[in-house]
Amino acid sequence: MLDDECIFCKIIKGEIPSSKVYEDDYVLAFNDINPVAPVHVLIIPKTHIVSANEITEENSEYMKKIYEAIPKIAKEAGVFEDGYRIVNNCGENGGQEVKHIHFHLIGGMKLGLKIV
Ligand code: AMP
Ligand code: ZN
Repeated sequence: MLDDECIFCKIIKGEIPSSKVYEDDYVLAFNDINPVAPVHVLIIPKTHIVSANEITEENSEYMKKIYEAIPKIAKEAGVFEDGYRIVNNCGENGGQEVKHIHFHLIGGMKLGLKIV
């Protein structure tokens, strides 16, 4: 299920352009428009799940598919060997701006040690 008002659902539908890195029936990965590192890919489910708070038994198959896609996306992005970080921001305190769950795959440089 997609949401007509959601920017990432519009990207899934092709109504907003994106720089695609990987796609399958469940998962879309595209380059972040405002990268914080040489590699910054956003990984999203092809269904409208608002945040980690909304993960349920009914939709968790999408999370499984996302994690199965991560090594493929990392290879495609050229960071499989050197490593990378996966980040999910949830809600206000987590700093989530786009209300469609997404995982940041960040790499291409030695990342800082702190995550807070
Ligand atoms: P977050 O703060 O975790 O919600 O991350 C939202 C991310 O979406 C930010 O890193 C933005 O740069 C990115 N973003 C927003 N709009 C677009 C877009 N149209 N295409 C690619 N990335 C986007
Ligand atoms: Zn959405």
